[in-house]
Amino acid sequence: MRTLFSFSLALTLGLSTFAQIQSPEAFFGYALGSRFNDHHDVVAYFQQLESNANGGLILDEYGRSNENRPLVVAYISTPENLKRIEEIKKAHSSLDKNEGIAIVWMSYNVHGNESSGTEAAMKTAYELIAQHQDWLKNTLVIMDPCINPDGRDRYVHWYNQVANSTPNPDPSAAEHDEPWPSGRPNHYMFDLNRDWAWLTQVESQQRIHLYNQWLPHVHVDFHEQGINDPYYFAPAAEPYHEVITDWQREFQNGLGRNHANYFDKQGWFYFTREIFDLLYPSYGDTYPTFNGAVGMTYEQAGNGRAGLAIQTNDGDTLTILLRKRISNTNPIVLEGITKTLSH
Ligand SMILES: [Zn+2]
Repeated sequence: MRTLFSFSLALTLGLSTFAQIQSPEAFFGYALGSRFNDHHDVVAYFQQLESNANGGLILDEYGRSNENRPLVVAYISTPENLKRIEEIKKAHSSLDKNEGIAIVWMSYNVHGNESSGTEAAMKTAYELIAQHQDWLKNTLVIMDPCINPDGRDRYVHWYNQVANSTPNPDPSAAEHDEPWPSGRPNHYMFDLNRDWAWLTQVESQQRIHLYNQWLPHVHVDFHEQGINDPYYFAPAAEPYHEVITDWQREFQNGLGRNHANYFDKQGWFYFTREIFDLLYPSYGDTYPTFNGAVGMTYEQAGNGRAGLAIQTNDGDTLTILLRKRISNTNPIVLEGITKTLSH
């Protein structure tokens, strides 16, 4: 009887936890940002979300990198929308039908050593499913958690080998001096954020094949910039290329203004309208823009120098946790997008 009771209790618990997605912290057993995750662990995390999200996430392997790592996207929306994903895709590609579903594509870690990106993707996916089903009623998020897994793993493996067990924020420490070849480019040392139009690399070729089947309304390309520059988002620096329409220009401005509201409320530093242009056609913001989307670059402070913690010029310490390289900016960015789209 006791055995039977234990068995049925285990079964009940097992069944009830089966339908529970795990946060990154619960899945890995440590807080995001306390170490960098290998790409295979990231893929395992998304597989866990797919298994436990009750139809709220579909994981699709769209190809393989040069070093044979899986290239994946996660489709995230309400289970009802995802059941109709092929219909939504068909309606979106036929200009005379409007399903009323905004398609937002979010790309992370095209530069492999801009290391908070993929970590932030996991947190964003989890929070979207666990906390923000209301945003997903009219939104399909297509999330590529790591465009350049070979470069990212090159960075992560190097960092884990040289880093102190307690991160050393002294900028002269070895863990802030990434050697050549850095994790920024792919296996063949090509910068994949210069390859969207030319498609010389297998990662780009396979991704664009999928991207062009969707042509989303919004494309977000997440990066990290220097450690002393806090955060950048749209609008981009003038002048814009002449093919960019007034509608795209205005929409980008609206999204930027909406993000600024959220950042202002939090007291976070940022800048807009500087440095990042919309001229060269082979970036992750311009290629989508030239193909009808609102394409935008986002730049968090960080980059290959930052590691898990580094002193900045103003004497502060930029950490992957405390200064929110992972933390809240991604969900806020998406909330800003969904709220702007719904107006
Ligand atoms: Zn970058």
